[in-house]
Amino acid sequence: MLNKIEHIGIAVKNLESSNALYAKLLGGAHYKIETVESEGVTTSFFKIGDSKVELLQATTPESPIAKFISKHGEGVHHIAFEVNDIDAEIARLTLEGFELIHNKPKPGADGKLIAFLHPKSSGGVLVELCQDIANND
Ligand code: ZN
Repeated sequence: MLNKIEHIGIAVKNLESSNALYAKLLGGAHYKIETVESEGVTTSFFKIGDSKVELLQATTPESPIAKFISKHGEGVHHIAFEVNDIDAEIARLTLEGFELIHNKPKPGADGKLIAFLHPKSSGGVLVELCQDIANND
């Protein structure tokens, strides 16, 4: 079951200037910056009520974010849904015919286990599932 929109991921070229822009837009500063080496990204997070905005800047030219920006420019990159049991959701969505980029959850930013669905099986939208690591016992 998908609980809620946990965050919206936005690809940016320059985290520093985008942090300033989004702080103005959202009316408050980011609350953390975190690099996820395995994904080639540095992220910053803003709280919006019960949800978040995640800004993503590439750390290497091979980063998926660098590739996304060279193809589409800056902008909305993915929608992340919170789940209680990411393994069960991966199994359910696989049975429903969705193509997973990650068939096994992996550690992501902000204390989450994550898995992405391939946008070609989800209507052109990159979908992330995320579960609090603390819930994963
Ligand atoms: Zn995300």
